[in-house]
Amino acid sequence: MIDRDLAVRLVVAASRRVDDHREELSRLDSVAGDGDHGVNMAAALAEAARRAGEDDHGSAAEVMRATGSAFHETVGGAAGALFGAFFGALAGGLSRSSAPDESGLVAGMEKGLARVARIGKAGPGDKTMIDALAPAVSEAREAMEGDGDLASVLAAAARAAREGARATAGMRPSAGRARFAPDHSMGTEDPGANTVALILESWDEQLSSEVTA
Ligand code: ADP
Ligand code: MG
Repeated sequence: MIDRDLAVRLVVAASRRVDDHREELSRLDSVAGDGDHGVNMAAALAEAARRAGEDDHGSAAEVMRATGSAFHETVGGAAGALFGAFFGALAGGLSRSSAPDESGLVAGMEKGLARVARIGKAGPGDKTMIDALAPAVSEAREAMEGDGDLASVLAAAARAAREGARATAGMRPSAGRARFAPDHSMGTEDPGANTVALILESWDEQLSSEVTA
């Protein structure tokens, strides 16, 4: 089960991981964007971790909802709204049950992907966070349907997100700020796709450290 305390640990793990890669993410964003992505995401997740730890959250869904709000309220720009929408949808998936498990997580991720695509008007191949998120969501579902537990669902999602993020290096951007500098962007990975991979990798590692502990 994904309880409140586990959700807090996941948000804290994501915050640490993104903060460790803050400069690299901003450097990726400086190639065809405005160079603020790492700073934006680290600030939003630090605020999310702070809010997540407050005592008034009774469930994992409430923790993820607070995380979504932290993105919306801390970060201007595209990714704040898009990641905020993603975490809000994740909260929706987790809130369907009083004892949410990997199926609630996968449902929330699917809803989150759909919301990001709708708000950002982007799809696979446009060189955005969707190119990490979409394969992560479909691999997560496949792992779950193969009777995977939470740890194996997150492992599959993390692996697919990282592969998806790497593949963005070969794409021409057609959404977001980078679409104004498509030639510059060639050969460089999309920053938002990297953030998706970092978050899911931190969740995968958190889960596997708890399973082996
Ligand atoms: P901004 O572009 O406003 O400066 P950030 O630099 O924080 O915001 O985030 C850039 C990232 O946001 C991109 O790398 C991309 O993954 C994601 N992104 C931007 N626009 C879109 C969009 N329309 N659809 C999906 N993702 C997007
Ligand atoms: Mg930017």
